[in-house]
Amino acid sequence: MNPRAIRRIPVLLYHKIGVAPTGVRNPRTWVAPDRFVWQMNYLSRRGWRCITPEALAAHYRGEKEADPDSILITFDDGSRSCYREVFPLMRSLGLTATVFIVSGQLGGRAVWDRNPDHPDDELLTIREIRELAEAGWSIGAHSMTHARLTGLPPGEAEREIRESKRQLEEALSMPIRTFAYPYGAYAPEHAGMVRKVGYEIGFTTHYPEQGLYAIRRENIHGEVYALRFLWRFRRAKRGPFRDVEA
Ligand SMILES: [Zn+2]
Repeated sequence: MNPRAIRRIPVLLYHKIGVAPTGVRNPRTWVAPDRFVWQMNYLSRRGWRCITPEALAAHYRGEKEADPDSILITFDDGSRSCYREVFPLMRSLGLTATVFIVSGQLGGRAVWDRNPDHPDDELLTIREIRELAEAGWSIGAHSMTHARLTGLPPGEAEREIRESKRQLEEALSMPIRTFAYPYGAYAPEHAGMVRKVGYEIGFTTHYPEQGLYAIRRENIHGEVYALRFLWRFRRAKRGPFRDVEA
Protein backbone atom coordinates (compact mmCIF):
# COMPACT_ATOMS: atom_id res chain seq x y z
CA MET A 1 0.00 0.00 0.00
CA ASN A 2 2.89 2.32 0.69
CA PRO A 3 5.00 2.37 -2.46
CA ARG A 4 8.72 2.90 -2.19
CA ALA A 5 9.76 6.57 -2.37
CA ILE A 6 12.61 7.39 -4.74
CA ARG A 7 14.64 10.58 -5.22
CA ARG A 8 12.93 12.69 -7.85
CA ILE A 9 14.53 13.80 -11.08
CA PRO A 10 13.24 17.15 -12.38
CA VAL A 11 11.46 17.02 -15.75
CA LEU A 12 10.75 20.19 -17.72
CA LEU A 13 8.22 20.56 -20.53
CA TYR A 14 8.49 22.99 -23.43
CA HIS A 15 6.61 23.31 -26.70
CA LYS A 16 8.31 25.71 -29.07
CA ILE A 17 10.92 28.42 -28.97
CA GLY A 18 10.27 31.65 -30.82
CA VAL A 19 8.35 34.90 -30.62
CA ALA A 20 4.62 34.19 -30.62
CA PRO A 21 2.96 35.86 -33.63
CA THR A 22 0.42 38.51 -32.60
CA GLY A 23 -3.09 37.15 -32.23
CA VAL A 24 -2.03 33.51 -32.05
CA ARG A 25 -4.47 31.37 -30.04
CA ASN A 26 -2.01 29.77 -27.62
CA PRO A 27 0.78 32.35 -27.16
CA ARG A 28 1.91 30.61 -23.98
CA THR A 29 3.16 27.57 -25.90
CA TRP A 30 5.89 29.85 -27.33
CA VAL A 31 8.93 30.65 -25.19
CA ALA A 32 10.86 33.70 -26.37
CA PRO A 33 14.41 32.84 -27.52
CA ASP A 34 16.11 35.19 -25.01
CA ARG A 35 14.23 33.54 -22.12
CA PHE A 36 15.10 30.08 -23.34
CA VAL A 37 18.77 31.02 -23.73
CA TRP A 38 18.77 32.33 -20.15
CA GLN A 39 17.14 29.13 -18.84
CA MET A 40 19.52 26.77 -20.65
CA ASN A 41 22.53 28.83 -19.59
CA TYR A 42 21.33 28.66 -16.01
CA LEU A 43 21.01 24.86 -16.08
CA SER A 44 24.34 24.44 -17.81
CA ARG A 45 26.23 26.80 -15.46
CA ARG A 46 24.75 25.04 -12.43
CA GLY A 47 26.07 21.75 -13.74
CA TRP A 48 22.78 20.03 -14.53
CA ARG A 49 23.18 17.14 -16.93
CA CYS A 50 20.53 15.89 -19.32
CA ILE A 51 19.53 12.25 -19.18
CA THR A 52 17.20 10.16 -21.32
CA PRO A 53 13.73 8.97 -20.31
CA GLU A 54 15.13 5.41 -20.35
CA ALA A 55 17.76 6.40 -17.76
CA LEU A 56 15.06 8.08 -15.71
CA ALA A 57 12.95 4.92 -15.89
CA ALA A 58 15.92 2.78 -14.78
CA HIS A 59 16.44 5.14 -11.83
CA TYR A 60 12.78 5.00 -10.80
CA ARG A 61 12.68 1.21 -11.20
CA GLY A 62 15.65 0.99 -8.85
CA GLU A 63 17.87 -0.64 -11.48
CA LYS A 64 20.49 2.06 -11.94
CA GLU A 65 20.67 5.16 -9.84
CA ALA A 66 20.95 8.41 -11.79
CA ASP A 67 23.45 11.10 -10.72
CA PRO A 68 22.03 13.80 -8.41
CA ASP A 69 22.61 16.46 -11.08
CA SER A 70 20.34 14.69 -13.62
CA ILE A 71 17.56 16.54 -15.40
CA LEU A 72 15.21 15.63 -18.24
CA ILE A 73 14.22 18.35 -20.70
CA THR A 74 11.26 17.51 -22.96
CA PHE A 75 9.51 19.12 -25.91
CA ASP A 76 5.97 18.15 -26.90
CA ASP A 77 4.59 18.22 -30.46
CA GLY A 78 7.86 18.24 -32.48
CA SER A 79 7.93 21.88 -33.57
CA ARG A 80 10.64 22.60 -36.14
CA SER A 81 12.01 25.18 -33.70
CA CYS A 82 13.44 22.16 -31.84
CA TYR A 83 15.78 21.67 -34.77
CA ARG A 84 16.32 25.27 -35.81
CA GLU A 85 16.58 27.14 -32.51
CA VAL A 86 16.89 24.61 -29.71
CA PHE A 87 19.31 22.06 -31.11
CA PRO A 88 22.22 24.43 -31.92
CA LEU A 89 21.95 26.18 -28.56
CA MET A 90 21.69 23.01 -26.49
CA ARG A 91 24.51 21.38 -28.41
CA SER A 92 26.79 24.35 -27.69
CA LEU A 93 26.01 23.95 -23.97
CA GLY A 94 26.38 20.16 -23.97
CA LEU A 95 22.65 19.63 -23.29
CA THR A 96 20.20 17.24 -24.95
CA ALA A 97 16.43 16.84 -24.90
CA THR A 98 13.58 14.47 -25.60
CA VAL A 99 11.02 15.35 -28.24
CA PHE A 100 7.54 13.80 -28.43
CA ILE A 101 6.33 13.41 -32.01
CA VAL A 102 2.79 13.20 -33.40
CA SER A 103 3.23 10.21 -35.69
CA GLY A 104 0.54 11.16 -38.20
CA GLN A 105 2.22 14.51 -38.91
CA LEU A 106 5.85 13.68 -39.65
CA GLY A 107 7.15 16.68 -41.57
CA GLY A 108 3.61 18.02 -41.43
CA ARG A 109 1.83 20.78 -39.57
CA ALA A 110 0.31 21.24 -36.11
CA VAL A 111 -3.24 20.97 -37.47
CA TRP A 112 -4.67 20.35 -33.98
CA ASP A 113 -3.62 23.86 -32.98
CA ARG A 114 -5.20 25.75 -35.85
CA ASN A 115 -5.26 29.54 -35.93
CA PRO A 116 -7.54 31.35 -38.35
CA ASP A 117 -4.99 34.10 -39.08
CA HIS A 118 -1.73 32.14 -39.06
CA PRO A 119 -0.38 29.14 -40.92
CA ASP A 120 -0.17 25.99 -38.80
CA ASP A 121 3.22 25.46 -37.19
CA GLU A 122 5.69 23.38 -39.12
CA LEU A 123 6.76 20.09 -37.58
CA LEU A 124 10.06 18.20 -37.66
CA THR A 125 10.85 16.12 -40.72
CA ILE A 126 12.07 12.52 -40.55
CA ARG A 127 15.56 13.67 -41.52
CA GLU A 128 15.66 16.29 -38.75
CA ILE A 129 14.38 13.82 -36.16
CA ARG A 130 17.07 11.32 -37.18
CA GLU A 131 19.75 14.00 -36.85
CA LEU A 132 18.54 14.91 -33.37
CA ALA A 133 18.58 11.24 -32.38
CA GLU A 134 22.11 10.81 -33.72
CA ALA A 135 23.18 13.76 -31.56
CA GLY A 136 21.88 12.05 -28.43
CA TRP A 137 18.31 13.32 -28.28
CA SER A 138 15.54 10.88 -27.36
CA ILE A 139 12.46 10.47 -29.49
CA GLY A 140 9.08 9.61 -28.00
CA ALA A 141 5.49 9.32 -29.19
CA HIS A 142 2.73 11.90 -28.65
CA SER A 143 -0.17 9.93 -30.21
CA MET A 144 -1.10 9.71 -33.92
CA THR A 145 -3.31 12.79 -34.18
CA HIS A 146 -2.71 14.75 -30.97
CA ALA A 147 -6.09 13.54 -29.71
CA ARG A 148 -7.25 14.24 -26.18
CA LEU A 149 -7.37 10.61 -25.00
CA THR A 150 -9.86 11.29 -22.22
CA GLY A 151 -12.42 12.26 -24.88
CA LEU A 152 -12.08 9.02 -26.88
CA PRO A 153 -13.68 5.56 -26.48
CA PRO A 154 -11.13 3.14 -24.95
CA GLY A 155 -10.48 1.31 -28.24
CA GLU A 156 -9.61 4.52 -30.07
CA ALA A 157 -7.45 5.80 -27.24
CA GLU A 158 -5.51 2.54 -27.25
CA ARG A 159 -5.09 2.79 -31.01
CA GLU A 160 -3.63 6.31 -30.69
CA ILE A 161 -1.17 5.02 -28.10
CA ARG A 162 -0.23 1.79 -29.91
CA GLU A 163 -0.14 2.99 -33.50
CA SER A 164 1.94 6.10 -32.78
CA LYS A 165 4.68 3.79 -31.46
CA ARG A 166 4.43 1.51 -34.47
CA GLN A 167 4.34 4.31 -37.05
CA LEU A 168 7.34 6.10 -35.56
CA GLU A 169 9.35 2.89 -35.25
CA GLU A 170 8.64 2.13 -38.89
CA ALA A 171 9.38 5.64 -40.18
CA LEU A 172 12.50 6.23 -38.07
CA SER A 173 13.84 2.67 -37.76
CA MET A 174 14.42 3.09 -34.04
CA PRO A 175 12.70 1.76 -30.91
CA ILE A 176 10.17 4.17 -29.36
CA ARG A 177 9.90 3.56 -25.61
CA THR A 178 8.39 6.78 -24.31
CA PHE A 179 4.92 8.33 -24.54
CA ALA A 180 3.58 11.78 -23.61
CA TYR A 181 -0.19 12.31 -23.30
CA PRO A 182 -1.47 15.11 -25.57
CA TYR A 183 -2.58 18.02 -23.32
CA GLY A 184 -1.23 15.90 -20.47
CA ALA A 185 -4.73 14.41 -20.37
CA TYR A 186 -5.07 10.83 -19.20
CA ALA A 187 -7.18 8.58 -17.01
CA PRO A 188 -5.78 5.59 -15.08
CA GLU A 189 -6.79 3.16 -17.85
CA HIS A 190 -4.63 5.08 -20.35
CA ALA A 191 -1.58 4.63 -18.15
CA GLY A 192 -2.38 0.90 -18.25
CA MET A 193 -2.55 0.98 -22.06
CA VAL A 194 0.81 2.78 -22.30
CA ARG A 195 2.35 0.00 -20.23
CA LYS A 196 0.53 -2.77 -22.07
CA VAL A 197 1.54 -1.76 -25.60
CA GLY A 198 5.20 -1.77 -24.60
CA TYR A 199 6.33 1.70 -23.59
CA GLU A 200 8.74 1.93 -20.66
CA ILE A 201 7.50 5.24 -19.39
CA GLY A 202 4.80 7.90 -19.85
CA PHE A 203 4.60 11.63 -19.11
CA THR A 204 1.76 13.93 -18.15
CA THR A 205 1.75 17.59 -17.08
CA HIS A 206 -0.50 18.92 -14.33
CA TYR A 207 -2.53 15.74 -13.88
CA PRO A 208 -1.88 13.65 -10.78
CA GLU A 209 1.11 11.41 -11.21
CA GLN A 210 0.57 7.67 -11.69
CA GLY A 211 3.89 5.95 -11.25
CA LEU A 212 6.18 5.36 -14.20
CA TYR A 213 3.36 5.61 -16.74
CA ALA A 214 2.27 9.16 -15.95
CA ILE A 215 5.18 11.17 -14.59
CA ARG A 216 4.54 14.84 -13.89
CA ARG A 217 6.45 17.58 -15.70
CA GLU A 218 6.89 21.26 -14.97
CA ASN A 219 5.43 23.29 -17.83
CA ILE A 220 7.77 26.11 -18.84
CA HIS A 221 5.56 28.33 -20.95
CA GLY A 222 5.97 31.78 -22.46
CA GLU A 223 5.07 33.72 -19.33
CA VAL A 224 7.69 32.02 -17.19
CA TYR A 225 10.20 34.79 -16.53
CA ALA A 226 13.48 34.21 -14.67
CA LEU A 227 12.23 34.13 -11.07
CA ARG A 228 9.26 32.03 -12.01
CA PHE A 229 11.55 29.63 -13.83
CA LEU A 230 13.64 29.22 -10.70
CA TRP A 231 10.49 28.61 -8.66
CA ARG A 232 9.12 26.08 -11.15
CA PHE A 233 12.47 24.35 -11.35
CA ARG A 234 12.54 24.04 -7.56
CA ARG A 235 9.03 22.60 -7.67
CA ALA A 236 10.11 20.12 -10.36
CA LYS A 237 12.64 18.67 -7.89
CA ARG A 238 10.30 18.58 -4.93
CA GLY A 239 8.89 15.46 -3.30
CA PRO A 240 9.84 11.85 -3.84
CA PHE A 241 8.67 9.75 -6.76
CA ARG A 242 6.40 6.86 -5.85
CA ASP A 243 5.92 4.01 -8.25
CA VAL A 244 2.45 2.50 -8.46
CA GLU A 245 0.86 -0.12 -10.66
CA ALA A 246 -0.46 1.20 -13.97
ZN1 LIG B 1 1.06 18.33 -27.47
